[in-house]
Amino acid sequence: MLSYQHAYHAGNFADVHKHLTLFAVTDNLLRKKSPVTYIDTHAGRGLYPLSAEESSRLQEHLSGIVPLWQARSRINDPLALEWLQTIAAAQEQEKGQKEAQGKEPNGASLSHYPGSPWWLAQRLRSQDRLRLFELHPGEHARLAKQVLPANTRHEYGDGLGGLLAMLPVATPRLCVLIDPSYELKAEYREVAEVVVQAMRKARHAIVLIWYPLLPAGQHHELLESLRSSGLRKIWRSELHQRDPKQAERGMYGSGMLVVNPPWGVDTRLADAMRELTPLLGEQCRYSADWWVEE
Ligand code: SAM
Repeated sequence: MLSYQHAYHAGNFADVHKHLTLFAVTDNLLRKKSPVTYIDTHAGRGLYPLSAEESSRLQEHLSGIVPLWQARSRINDPLALEWLQTIAAAQEQEKGQKEAQGKEPNGASLSHYPGSPWWLAQRLRSQDRLRLFELHPGEHARLAKQVLPANTRHEYGDGLGGLLAMLPVATPRLCVLIDPSYELKAEYREVAEVVVQAMRKARHAIVLIWYPLLPAGQHHELLESLRSSGLRKIWRSELHQRDPKQAERGMYGSGMLVVNPPWGVDTRLADAMRELTPLLGEQCRYSADWWVEE
């Protein structure tokens, strides 16, 4: 039985790290006309009202998107700026829908934080496809209510199995986001196994994998399994919110792996994070390297 609900964490520092990385990768994919299939194996609800009871409970967005949003008029980095402008567009879109329904918009200028289905949907061109998987019935029901482009399909089911069943895809390019809740320790190993199998079926795929940095260090199993698998070209970035040495419990950082990252994404993200990281807190640190080189 799944209990994780992303609404409790929406817009936190890990979402900032994950969605900015996704934004940079997908931006690069738009440079060519050839069609892309996007697969989001763990989609969540799609869009998160920050005033909802769940988000208000932990208020993690206050140390994530909120300080960046408040500083947006002072941001110079082009990638970070475009990303924040896209979040502004999400507010406008939501406001427009509420007004069309005769309901008042939320009031605050940052009322909603967009989840991965939204980030991917706003990149879709007519030639692209988007497939979303979500296994939690309540989360899937909420996702199904989102207004998504016609070339999007969502499925109530297991995203890791769903990904493998979809391969190979009909489009020349493929971009996959794997963003589990890691409620079960076995997920670290399963994710690595599925990525290896998926890359056998789609060697050209770009795969983004998010993982939490916890004091118990379970993410090492994921990282080491991928390193020993023989896969090449795996880029890693991590955002530490707190000093790992002082973190006794709870998530102290956010990790992203990108298999086959598009050229230049590492530099663009490093530039963006140089400006954004200090805004996320004094202890915040960003680092990136090749986990496995070409
Ligand atoms: N990707 C989302 C975003 O960035 O906005 C957040 C996803 S959240 C971290 C993980 C989601 O995966 C939860 O909604 C959970 O219900 C769902 N989930 C857990 N196991 C799953 C599985 N095997 N297949 C698909 N979804 C799953």
